[in-house]
Amino acid sequence: MITLKEALTKSNEELELLRAELEVKAKASDLNAYVGFESSGAGIPILIKDNIQVKDWPVTGGSKILQGYIAPYEATVIKNLKSKGMMAFGRANMDEFAMGSTTESSFYGPTKNPHAEDRVPGGSSGGSAAAVAGGIAIAALGSDTGGSIRQPAAYCGCVGMKPTYGRVSRFGLGAYASSLDQIGPITQNVEDAAILYDAIKGHDDKDSTSADFEIEDIANNLNPDVKLTIAVIDSYVEAADADIQKAFTETVAKLEAAGHTIVRKELSNTKYDIATYYVLATAEAATNLARYDGVRYGTRAESKTTEEMFYNSRSEGFGEEVKRRIMLGNFVLSSGYYDAYYVKAQKVRHLIRDEFNAIFEEADLILSPVAPAVAPKMHATESALEMYKSDMYTLGVNLAGLPGISVPVGKNAEGMPVGLQLIAKAFNEKILFDGAASLEKVVNYK
Ligand code: GLN
Repeated sequence: MITLKEALTKSNEELELLRAELEVKAKASDLNAYVGFESSGAGIPILIKDNIQVKDWPVTGGSKILQGYIAPYEATVIKNLKSKGMMAFGRANMDEFAMGSTTESSFYGPTKNPHAEDRVPGGSSGGSAAAVAGGIAIAALGSDTGGSIRQPAAYCGCVGMKPTYGRVSRFGLGAYASSLDQIGPITQNVEDAAILYDAIKGHDDKDSTSADFEIEDIANNLNPDVKLTIAVIDSYVEAADADIQKAFTETVAKLEAAGHTIVRKELSNTKYDIATYYVLATAEAATNLARYDGVRYGTRAESKTTEEMFYNSRSEGFGEEVKRRIMLGNFVLSSGYYDAYYVKAQKVRHLIRDEFNAIFEEADLILSPVAPAVAPKMHATESALEMYKSDMYTLGVNLAGLPGISVPVGKNAEGMPVGLQLIAKAFNEKILFDGAASLEKVVNYK
């Protein structure tokens, strides 16, 4: 598949041909990465996660409850893409309402990992990552609330980037946990990620959490020869399995050999990441998902009374994981538990952020695993709790509002990709991408 950078040099006629070829290939693929083949506009085709509004497309968040819903407006990121010579083509499969780490909870059935079809592609942006890695998308947009761009990118061997909170407009993104959600690129390489990030970033009056200052474009002056101070947290890495630890140690040595300075640091609050995230994310999800009641969007269940309509539409429309989170979220927000769980989690969130920021006083970047293991087999994640643990390295970045990027660094003995993550200070995407370009160069992943 041609890269996004190469696609930028093509004429409109060539791109139209390319889109048509892509459509044939994507329809013939058995990865189940696409859940729709709509297209909108002209230009370089970019695959869109099924929770980003493209005007006049069905947009369903991978859920039964949104079947039949047609987007009445365009997300800001889509408008931005179109103004940069790109177009929206195809809807990417995802975990229902972006809740999950495997893309197994989609209404459309699971997506497969292109490196081993009996394995998951990760989630929740699993369709986006599988399509890019599987050669049926040039580049894709995903969304990341607790790792949903970086983790599937790592499992599939492509690049996934989560911008600083507030850098990319959330207007038109189906809200999961509004204080954590960000849209970002999933691409074949770091330069393409920078190109796509440049295209979608920027202030937006329609998103009240959008940062109101501009940052220079990155792709045009990406510097893979930069020399940076990179922090590693040994105790953090010990929780990963042997494949990941080996890749990590080898990569640190390569970065050092390339002239980067490695410093050893500690992050003592990371043990609270999972608990804090699942209190806050579920509280916000319960609130955001209250709007799906059978009245305004998508499918309405058969019922005699209004109350029964709410009850039946939600019971039939939502899947098990979404229901679990709505219940958990309502519980932590309920009187009597609000202070004990929700308020406390907000306080811990600040401590987590402060601890990251203290490291950035002395280091430009942090290098960490993306996930504790390579992509698991389908249906292997037995309990919800076990699935939640697979996010241990990515959640903190969202809780702290930082930018992070997942870059493939190698494969394990079974040929499954291993990705590592770089994390930067808020709004320091330039350093993040330079570091990622350097990492990509030193590991030379094929
Ligand atoms: N796996 C995490 C969750 O289920 C993160 C999902 C995401 O980033 N959208 O909440």
